[in-house]
Amino acid sequence: MTNAIPLRNLPSHGSTNDKIYPRRFQGVFRRLRIAGGSFLFLLFFGTAWLGWNGRQAVLWDLSGKQFHIFGSTFWPQDLVLLSAILIICAFGLFFLTVAAGRVWCGYSCPQSVWMWLFLWVERVTEGDRNRRRKLDQAPLSRSKLARRAAKHSLWLAISLITAITFVGYFTPIRALVADLATLQAGGWAAFWVFFFTAATYLNAGWLREKVCVHMCPYGRFQSTMLDRDSLVISYDAARGEPRGHRKTGTSESAEGLGDCIDCQMCVQVCPTGIDIRDGLQMECIGCAACIDACDSIMEKIGAPTGLVRYTSERELSGGKLRVLRPRLLGYGGLLAVFIGVLVWAIASRPLVDLDVTRDRGLYRFNAAGEIENSYTLRILNKAQHPRLFDVWVSGVEGLRLLGGTRISAGAGERVEVPVSVSVPAAAMENPITDIKFHLQAADSDAESAEDITRFIGAAR
Ligand code: SF4
Ligand code: SF4
Repeated sequence: MTNAIPLRNLPSHGSTNDKIYPRRFQGVFRRLRIAGGSFLFLLFFGTAWLGWNGRQAVLWDLSGKQFHIFGSTFWPQDLVLLSAILIICAFGLFFLTVAAGRVWCGYSCPQSVWMWLFLWVERVTEGDRNRRRKLDQAPLSRSKLARRAAKHSLWLAISLITAITFVGYFTPIRALVADLATLQAGGWAAFWVFFFTAATYLNAGWLREKVCVHMCPYGRFQSTMLDRDSLVISYDAARGEPRGHRKTGTSESAEGLGDCIDCQMCVQVCPTGIDIRDGLQMECIGCAACIDACDSIMEKIGAPTGLVRYTSERELSGGKLRVLRPRLLGYGGLLAVFIGVLVWAIASRPLVDLDVTRDRGLYRFNAAGEIENSYTLRILNKAQHPRLFDVWVSGVEGLRLLGGTRISAGAGERVEVPVSVSVPAAAMENPITDIKFHLQAADSDAESAEDITRFIGAAR
């Protein structure tokens, strides 16, 4: 048996192909979303320009196969950490959804954050809901053309800045901007800037809520995660119904009506064009615009706010709100464990990597009559400073590394070192035997690496 809440898939006010003209509104949750959105914009647009130890603070250097983040460098060998981060993000999303429905969509998802920004631009250039609707229906005129041009120019400018910033996390942003300004950017960089400009413009400007409703898989499976105690945005039908307009000077009790005056304000502000009074729906992105709109109406008519509010299905049906419950605690516990493991793995990951390959060819006898094999050592110094490493071999009695046993590597440098290993012929019990290369950082006992390879040879 499942606790999941079934989501309704109801026709909105107008078909899904109708253009939605969300109305302007004010309120606590709008201010909260603006504050959260501003913080996210600052983080996204600002971080790309931050420097750290003479390098861009966050840079996924695809050509160098390195990911730099505030002084730490991650390599393809650390890919398992990336998987751990993705698992943590997934559990974080499960946790949030069980606790408070689509709060991620409403406040933090880039699609909705950029959509609200584009909606604001539309409102500034073309006016609020009714003016925009009239403008759409009006014949082409100079004023209409000017407003449209202003809107699309601003949308494109925001899209271009977004795209340059995003690409700037994969190629040094200062050089990218200089290259674009002087028309000297490489073909791939120019292509990706163009691609992400177009994607931002189309997604946030034209597709908007359609991405959330028709394209995003999260909206589809969220109902399996919600339970009767999840905080979701709901209309309190027990208090609001029967809905209806008031006659001036009469109270609702006098008319036998509930608190909902059927003003449609909650519907008009909804960016996905649904009516929250129809119940929890798949199209609801949890933006809380309907709460702000309804609260302002309740204040105007002198009724208590909260006719539309964050609440649980249990509370709506007369039960008690239960925030802490086994499912939420389970997700929270798993999340804490995964975060702990990730922190430990990052803190304890070795800042050195060793890869040994045996050179082609059989083996040879040297002047001392010993069997000799050749190898190439690939040493990766993941630290942010130059280091010295000691190398030695083990596995067969009398095994010796010929030449130097101390190797230096610069900060973040991968060095390739050819070496030879010899064994007294009498010590070879088998023609093929495993030997182990050991690498030890000279400045840290905890920093070491090993690799096993084969030694080939037989006594004459
Ligand atoms: S129903 Fe309310 S919370 Fe849901 S998308 Fe519409 S305005 Fe936002
Ligand atoms: S805004 Fe509030 S009062 Fe107006 S229709 Fe919606 S629920 Fe009813």
